[in-house]
Amino acid sequence: MKKLSERVGTFTDSVIRRMTRISDAYGAINLSQGFPDFDPPQAMLDALSKAAYEGPHQYSITFGAKNLRDALAAKYDKATGLTTNPDTQVIVTCGSTEAMICAMMTVCNPHDKVLIFSPFYENYGADAILSGAEPIYIPLVPPAYDFDPSLIEKGFQEGAIALILCNPSNPCGKVFSREELLVIADLAKKYDAWIITDEVYEHMVYAPHVHTVMASLPGMAERTITCNSLSKTFSATGWRLGYMVGPEEVIEAAKKVHDFLTVGAPAPLQEAAVAGLQLGEEYYEDLNRLYTEKRDYFLAGLDRIGLKHNIPQGTYFVMVDISDFLAMEQFSGWSDLAFCEWMIREIGVAAVPGSSFFREPVNHLIRLHFARQKETMDEALKRMAKMAAMLGNDQAK
Ligand code: GLN
Repeated sequence: MKKLSERVGTFTDSVIRRMTRISDAYGAINLSQGFPDFDPPQAMLDALSKAAYEGPHQYSITFGAKNLRDALAAKYDKATGLTTNPDTQVIVTCGSTEAMICAMMTVCNPHDKVLIFSPFYENYGADAILSGAEPIYIPLVPPAYDFDPSLIEKGFQEGAIALILCNPSNPCGKVFSREELLVIADLAKKYDAWIITDEVYEHMVYAPHVHTVMASLPGMAERTITCNSLSKTFSATGWRLGYMVGPEEVIEAAKKVHDFLTVGAPAPLQEAAVAGLQLGEEYYEDLNRLYTEKRDYFLAGLDRIGLKHNIPQGTYFVMVDISDFLAMEQFSGWSDLAFCEWMIREIGVAAVPGSSFFREPVNHLIRLHFARQKETMDEALKRMAKMAAMLGNDQAK
C-alpha cells in the first residue's frame, strides 16, 4: 500500500460520530452525538425556503455574508459590551469545528504547546495534531470538575502559547465562574498567551450559573479568539454554520486559513440564519427555559431509575457513572466503550464512552445528552430502567 501521512496515524476517528453510526445500525435511541431532534425556528425555515427560490446560491464573500457578519457582531457586542468590526473581526465558518481548527492553525507553529482541559471535546486533540501543536492537559477533577491554577501556570512556564477553553464545557457540563475565568485571564496576560474559546453552549446554562464570555473580561479581547456556532443555539447542527471573533490582526490572518480550507460556509444557509439572529432576546430566553426543563426532566428520570450522574451546570450533556455495572461479574474487565456498545445492542440507547474525553485513565463514566423531545427521553429512560434494574435498585422495578 502507498504511504499515508504520519499525521493520520496519530489519532482515531471521532468516537462521538462513531457511536452515532453504531446507534443507527441498531436503530437505538441516540443520546450519544449531541444534536436536537427538533427543528430550527420557523423564521429560519421560511427564510431558507425563500433562499431556495431567490438565492443566494453562489459563493458568499469567503469570510461570510455581510448581513450575517453584521448580525453576529451585534449579538456578540450585546453579550460582551465590546465593539466588534464585522468586516475585520468576524469570520463565518463551517461550524465551530472549522473555527477551532482555523484558530489553531492561525496561532500555532509545529511543536508549540497548547493547554487543554481534560475532559475535553475530542476535536481539540485532533485539532492539536493537525495544527502541529503539542497539548498539555490540565485536569478538571470530577465530581466538581475543579482545576488547579498552578498547573496552568506551570504549562505556560513550559512555553504553552495558548489555552483552549470550552465554556460551558463539553462533556462535563461545567460553567466556569467569573472568578475562575479571571484566574485564567490573569495567567494568560502574565504569559502573553492566546485563549481560544469554544462557547457553543452559551445559551444552555442553568441558574444560578451564568455564562461569562472570556473576551469580555478586562484586557482579554486582544488575546481571545472566540469560536461559536449557530448549530446548538438554533437547533441547526446540519447547517454547519459557525463563526470566530477576535482581534483584527489574528482574524485577518485566519481569513487566509479559512479561505484555503473551505472557501466559505453555504450561502443560502447563511442568508436563512440571519432570520434566526433577528429573533432577539426572547428567543434565547425561551431556549434557555426549554433546556432547563429538559435537564430537570432527564435528571429526575435518571434519579427515578437509579442511575448515578453529575449535575451539569450548562450544555445538554450528563455524565452517568457506570462503576456499579463494571463491578458486576457480567461486565468485569469491560471498557466503557464495550459497555456503550452493549448498551446500544441490548438496551437500545446510545451513549459516548467517557474515556474518549479524558486524558486520564477514566473508564467509569458515559456521556448522555438530553436535546431530545420528552417522549424520546421517556422511552430512553424506560429502556435504561431495565439496565438499572440489574443493579437491584428498588425504584427501578
Ligand atoms: N458537540 C457535539 C457532541 O459533543 C457534536 C458535534 C459534532 O459531532 N460535530 O456530541
